[in-house]
Amino acid sequence: MSIVEQKLSSLTAAGQFDICAPGECIHVLSTAAHITYNRRAGGCGRMLKVLLNGYCSYDCAYCSVRVNRERLGFSPDEFAEAFLRLWHEDLVGGLFLSSGIPHDVDLVMHDLVETGEILRCRGYDGYLHLKILPGAARADIHDAARVADRISINLETTSSDRLGCIAGVKDYQQDILKRQAWVAEEKPEGHTTQLVIGAADETDAEILSCLAGQYRRVRPARVYFSAFRSLPGTPLAEHPDTPAWRARRCYQADYLLRDYGFTADELKASLDEDGFFENRDPKEVIAADMMPVNVNTATKWDLLRVPGIGPKAADRIIRLRKQRPFTGPADLARAGIGGQVAARHLTFGNRKGTIQTKLIL
Ligand code: SF4
Repeated sequence: MSIVEQKLSSLTAAGQFDICAPGECIHVLSTAAHITYNRRAGGCGRMLKVLLNGYCSYDCAYCSVRVNRERLGFSPDEFAEAFLRLWHEDLVGGLFLSSGIPHDVDLVMHDLVETGEILRCRGYDGYLHLKILPGAARADIHDAARVADRISINLETTSSDRLGCIAGVKDYQQDILKRQAWVAEEKPEGHTTQLVIGAADETDAEILSCLAGQYRRVRPARVYFSAFRSLPGTPLAEHPDTPAWRARRCYQADYLLRDYGFTADELKASLDEDGFFENRDPKEVIAADMMPVNVNTATKWDLLRVPGIGPKAADRIIRLRKQRPFTGPADLARAGIGGQVAARHLTFGNRKGTIQTKLIL
């Protein structure tokens, strides 16, 4: 394996991206290193997720990069050369480029942006996602937004206090939220963020409040959740891992906030008394206490509160019931709407509400 291949393998694995094991060669890496995006939604197929620098002077307690002894890193030219080779061979279709912070943040941000600029100058027209580092300068965020399809800055957790417990060097207000506001101004439709669930012992109630603030202030295109995994050699090595299902419940709650018009307060009704999700779809938990909804007269807002009905299905119901009222689950099924789960929360009265038939299934 060449030195560049070794670096690519190590720096891909160093980011804990679950892409390949250290030591796998470049061709294994390039077939394993992928996130399969929906091409119809503008996805890029196999995406290489890699760090420009695999070591860091920061002290984030949950991060594997902080304990790396090996000072591996790419120069922008060197990385661009390696990536373009993979791309020309059609082994990768997109790039997610992040970095540890071995020295000055501005220098690392310059390198990230310069790498993107070299790739674009040399004809790379595929998907490019650049990570914005905490404390990045406004000018670098501007340049990253210009060269990349998407940019992101990680919140990591829900508040200054929580971040202070797991990443003492970063200032939540200054280094992250202030920079995220700049990110949103520079790339209003194309920025994302990420939370590490459970590392700072935050509750799901805190996560919901944090998400509501995100959609009110900066409207990220996506919020990603990763369940905390303890790593040997870090201060959180003995901290319990977060179950994967908790991240799944956070994703479901996030969809409800972003696409279904739920409020954080509504969603908090699905939490237990300690402020945590149980391992059930939050929408189903809330719907258990809800009055049945008349499918022929309900507003879109009401329909969206029924498990099994999403925004597209709600629009379809409203369109179809103008032609002919729904009379039972068979009509729902014919309209392609999720069978028994939805029907359990629906009635099929006529428009005047004279026939109320709640289905007991
Ligand atoms: S800034 Fe923190 S999370 Fe990012 S690479 Fe450095 S130690 Fe890891």
